[in-house]
Amino acid sequence: MRPNYGANQHFEEGSAKRYTSGMEITVTERLIGEIFASLSPRLASEWESKLADPSVPRVTANGLAVPIIRAEWNHVDDFFDGLFDTANKMFFSGSLPACRRSWNNRFRRVAGRIDCRHQQIELSAPHYEACGTAALGVVLVHEMIHLSLYADGRPFGHTREFKYRSSSLGLPDVHHELPIPDRLKPRKAHLYRCNCGRIVESRIKFRKPRACAHCCRHFSRGRYDDRFRLVYVGQRDSA
Ligand SMILES: [Zn+2]
Ligand SMILES: [Zn+2]
Repeated sequence: MRPNYGANQHFEEGSAKRYTSGMEITVTERLIGEIFASLSPRLASEWESKLADPSVPRVTANGLAVPIIRAEWNHVDDFFDGLFDTANKMFFSGSLPACRRSWNNRFRRVAGRIDCRHQQIELSAPHYEACGTAALGVVLVHEMIHLSLYADGRPFGHTREFKYRSSSLGLPDVHHELPIPDRLKPRKAHLYRCNCGRIVESRIKFRKPRACAHCCRHFSRGRYDDRFRLVYVGQRDSA
């Protein structure tokens, strides 16, 4: 029996784990496999073999260790549309309202976000590039659990009920643990400070004295003024 969380559904104590040919996979992993299978047989078999091989690199998404796998770009929208529709039917008796889905380029800590009232889901493009289709699929399922609570008129934060629904789908954690992609990490920089308090960052160390552009613009008609000379405060390593 698949978990089914539609309105008025009675909650059964259920196990998220299923056994397929000796391999333990969660409901969410199986769902992702079904979507891959509907897109391309090659993707489906790549997913199966990566799931079965513990030496394949994985990322942790909501407590689930997901192998990194990518759908071809022409399949990406189909993947997330298919995941939403199928998960809606499989897990929530089709009770979830349709959602707009968009990519966000600036997410750092979280890989996804949902605005339940306006039915808007945002997924992180940088995390997608770094962690792959399946990991973001897990994040989408997580956001759909928020939406299911909202649709059922329940508090829709990370409540105990949320945790229960989440773990029954094979997602033990409520936190998005996807690693921060390299291109979002602050890079090495030399830091300089002006008396006005502004910090100026530079990839290279200044050879000549430089002054604070803001102060020079406001107090010396844009010309270099030694009163506003930048003082070296040190180096920031890439975090
Ligand atoms: Zn959440
Ligand atoms: Zn200044």
